[in-house]
Amino acid sequence: ARRAAAEQSSGPGRTADGHPVPLLANIGGPKDLPAAVDNGAEGVGLYRTEFLFLDREDAPSHQEQVAAYRAALEAFGPGAKVVVRTLDAGADKPLAFLPPPGEEPNPALGERGLRMMHRHPEMLSSQLSALAEAARGAPAELSVMAPMVTDAEDAEWFTARAAEAGIERAGVMVEVPAAALRARHLARDAAFFSIGTNDLTQYTCAADREVGGLGRFQDSWQPAVLELVATTAREAEAAGRPCGVCGEAAADPLLACVLVGMGVTTLSMGATALPMVRAALARATREQCRRAAEAALEARGPSEARAAARTALPGLA
Ligand code: PEP
Ligand code: MG
Repeated sequence: ARRAAAEQSSGPGRTADGHPVPLLANIGGPKDLPAAVDNGAEGVGLYRTEFLFLDREDAPSHQEQVAAYRAALEAFGPGAKVVVRTLDAGADKPLAFLPPPGEEPNPALGERGLRMMHRHPEMLSSQLSALAEAARGAPAELSVMAPMVTDAEDAEWFTARAAEAGIERAGVMVEVPAAALRARHLARDAAFFSIGTNDLTQYTCAADREVGGLGRFQDSWQPAVLELVATTAREAEAAGRPCGVCGEAAADPLLACVLVGMGVTTLSMGATALPMVRAALARATREQCRRAAEAALEARGPSEARAAARTALPGLA
């Protein structure tokens, strides 16, 4: 009943001219599912599984993981998309049971995400096998993706581990500039891309996301960040791969339209942002989004980029 009500009041994401842009939710665990469904999410675009692993003495058991993943795969209708990100721990999200290899003076540049799994492949394999089990017979379609992928070798390694676990749809997050620049090469193995604009902004602008006060360097409207997004979306399209955005940028209604104008195919965000983004997309045609993207890419800084997009999308301001 909750799902039926949400569908009636909201509906799927579309531009004003009817181009579908699936709107998905970012979740940290089963407790976030009711808000996702209530706000009309069409599925899950980012399941941050590290929250199941943090603040505990040992890793969650296989059955515990299966239950937590299964909840997401059962929350939406048949064929819904559920994208689960494998463990993104390390650095500022340390795990009690997997200590870092040594002191890290710059933890954001240290062993985190997929980098940690290279040293603990059994941890990745056990997570993937719990995911494969959760997906068996579930109504939703499971995809998995790796955080902090840097190059095509990382993508190949991760997708091979997923295939070993019996998971066909394996993609990568694009949140390291190196990965964005080489999207064409990553596309050989990655079935899809999901751009993490939070880390992509941090690494592109060399501004620690944990430190306050760096203002415009922590702003995803930075034209250099937009250019990396545009490059990734263009290469993804050329390779026939879907390309979503699951960072905070997707939750900014104006920026969401710019992202769609760049060729981004899905948007994933905290559930409460979904209605505003859905409404913004419904007021802009794809061509207007394209013009807004072109204008923002020509800007000299984030405030100019925002202003240029606002001018190109007057119905949204
Ligand atoms: C991102 O980096 O944009 C992202 C979605 O991942 P997280 O915020 O969990 O690092
Ligand atoms: Mg990230």
